[in-house]
Amino acid sequence: MSSPFSHSASPASPVWHPYAHLKTQRPAPRVVGGEGPRFTLEGGETLLDATCSWWCMIHGYRHPRLVRAIQQQADTLCHVMLGGLTHEPADRLARALVRVTPESLNHVFFSDSGSVGMEVAMKMAVQYHQLRGKPGKHRLLSLMKAYHGDTAGCMAVCDPEEGMHSLFAGYLPRHHFAPAPTAPFEAGPEAVEQDLAALRAVLERHHHEIAALLMEPLLQAAGGLNMTSPHYLAGAREMCDEFDVLLVFDEVATGFGRTGKMFAADHAGVTPDIMVLSKGLTGGYLGHAATLATDRVHDAFIGDSEMHAFMHGPTFMGNPLACAVALESLAVFKEEDYLGRISALNAVLREALIDDDRLAAHPAVADVRVLGATAVIETHAAADLVGVGDWARQQGVWLRPIGRWLYTMPAYVTSEGDMRRITDVMKGWFRH
Ligand SMILES: *Cc1c(COP(=O)(O)O)cnc(C)c1O
Repeated sequence: MSSPFSHSASPASPVWHPYAHLKTQRPAPRVVGGEGPRFTLEGGETLLDATCSWWCMIHGYRHPRLVRAIQQQADTLCHVMLGGLTHEPADRLARALVRVTPESLNHVFFSDSGSVGMEVAMKMAVQYHQLRGKPGKHRLLSLMKAYHGDTAGCMAVCDPEEGMHSLFAGYLPRHHFAPAPTAPFEAGPEAVEQDLAALRAVLERHHHEIAALLMEPLLQAAGGLNMTSPHYLAGAREMCDEFDVLLVFDEVATGFGRTGKMFAADHAGVTPDIMVLSKGLTGGYLGHAATLATDRVHDAFIGDSEMHAFMHGPTFMGNPLACAVALESLAVFKEEDYLGRISALNAVLREALIDDDRLAAHPAVADVRVLGATAVIETHAAADLVGVGDWARQQGVWLRPIGRWLYTMPAYVTSEGDMRRITDVMKGWFRH
């Protein structure tokens, strides 16, 4: 029994886990496979994944079409640099993304993760103003409760207090922050006025040095699943035009159906100047990202000086395997009516969580919110959720709360019965 893959004799793995307290962490369950919305642990235990692996496995595990797309592409071309060369999967995916995203986002810059996609967006915004003769516009405006990734540039635009990077404050560049929007998704134009006034106050004072306003449209995900109204997006769009500030939508979490439409921007009929996609882009099957830009942004880079080149180029940008599986993911999304499935999941989430008066009345529960295929039970303190993961696992469900937020972002292939199973377990925690 001494195969090179044998592991039973080595209790301490050299794998360093993310966000883990090394002193108190317990051995991570070992996943050996998966099928649909469930993954399987060694020993045969299967768990219904309420989080679809940090929100990216939208087709669930081992989807035959996605697996085949990777296999077929691997047989032809696994990788080649995009510097000075191109290939069909990159070209086809770029065209497909232009087609499905809001009008006039016509140019696509590929990279390898959501964080890098955001770095590209920020760099593009600063260089855009530089090229237009406004080099003073080199800072960014972000929102409290924002999460945009873990690289240094991204950490600097995450919520500076609760965004888990406060320890690095001295290391990071300083940007501007506006309050997180407070009006709910259903809020009308009047109800977002206060939120927009707060945004305007920062822009009026600092617009001369602000290159771009960044936001996770409608749903600030990792920062506490804070939801807001499409009217806030529309108002922000107008203000950005007024103050010559680019609008960047980080749709890494919201993209590909999570909020009930293909993109959060679609709820507001708004086109950002730059839009970043990742997580669901490849259906989670490979790491990749796309930063899309409008003609206006792209065309500012057409010029004669050396400064006009966009000096960025991740090694694995446009990886053919990632592009091929992303194309297949888009095809499945459309052919299998995922937006219809998302709306069916939304109906279950509303009925099971929003319409449950007992849940809302529970003393630990601060709020319950649902948007598209996303639901969260916000508690008053993280202590209210200690042990929920183990408890859910005993009932065959994988839940991993963020701080005091117990949420689900299921795979879109989750059946209505399994969706109900997830909401039963989420609610059950407050009754057991
Ligand atoms: C996950 C996430 C990122 C970072 O993506 P990575 O692929 O983990 O680098 C950025 N923005 C948002 C909104 C995210 O949810």
